[in-house]
Amino acid sequence: MDTARAAKYPFLRESAEFAERNSADLDELITSPSYEPARVRGRQRVLDALSDSEVSYTPLMNDYDRLMEVMSYPYARMIVSMVGDRFLTKRYALAEAVRMNNLLSSEDPSTVLAVSDELGVSSTADPDGIMRIGFPDYLRLANRLKSVDWKLINMELHHGMVHLPQEKYSRLMQNALQDKIESELPLITPDEYHRYLRGDVTRISMALEETKKRFSPTGGEGMRNEYLPPCITHILDMSRQGLNLPHSARFALVTFLNALGLTYDEIIRVFSESPDFDESKSEYQIKHITGELNGTDGYTPPECSTMKTNGICYCPDSLCEQEWLNHPLSYYRVKSGKTRKKTEGKDGQ
Ligand code: SF4
Repeated sequence: MDTARAAKYPFLRESAEFAERNSADLDELITSPSYEPARVRGRQRVLDALSDSEVSYTPLMNDYDRLMEVMSYPYARMIVSMVGDRFLTKRYALAEAVRMNNLLSSEDPSTVLAVSDELGVSSTADPDGIMRIGFPDYLRLANRLKSVDWKLINMELHHGMVHLPQEKYSRLMQNALQDKIESELPLITPDEYHRYLRGDVTRISMALEETKKRFSPTGGEGMRNEYLPPCITHILDMSRQGLNLPHSARFALVTFLNALGLTYDEIIRVFSESPDFDESKSEYQIKHITGELNGTDGYTPPECSTMKTNGICYCPDSLCEQEWLNHPLSYYRVKSGKTRKKTEGKDGQ
């Protein structure tokens, strides 16, 4: 058995077999002092996800360390499941997947194929390092990669198989692993484990709140009217005056306020200032747009280009005219000093 491979890719069947051979089970992992290194590493996997969006990797030279690494994976998944936060689940899944992508891009073909097989992607490898992936799998995994490089028209396609270099293939596997982990979590954790995991769950929950604050355009400090972009200020004024808001404006306002971290109660309070406020109608719209009705993260706020197309880029000012200003959330961040102008990226993507 290749124990180094089992440790590198702890989601593989052979990793579970490695643990079984060493009589490692979940009860031991949770309670035994000899599994403390696995628990520490499991906690670190989740902290890495929060701080760096990538689980760290260190080559391990002996089977004991490799076993601890393998067992840290189910421990991390249990913590994430117990915290039960959708943002954390997604971020953790991404961080494990990014780690795998970075390792897989320089692996030998047999390992690449073993990982692909585990992820339910059937592929073949050419001796010259070119990977071939079935057309439907390619479309499923590449459709969220927006760069033109990933458009099917730019790919080599022969007999229903897309040919691509290993590096690009590994990037697709990143999406496959991310989907797999997200679909598997949360796990149902036995009640008797909870008291053992409580300390780590509390620690991760606190780190999670800090991370959310860091990502929030408001830095967790609540919305400040003086930082709002002119388009949103104008839409708010229209709403307060009872003017008929176009659907696109209502959508932009709710998604923007949701992205700033306002709660449902805070958002509906904004709409309640309108003279023709209809609570049940507003409640449905807000919960639909913010994803509360269907358990998703909801929609992201539109970029400036979309706002312009929809005719709701109201009253742009001199900051709006900057070439790099491409999103109302960027406007808010710059005004509030949460972002340096030259480092602006694209929001909502
Ligand atoms: S340029 Fe962007 S931020 Fe400024 S008003 Fe238009 S949509 Fe809003």
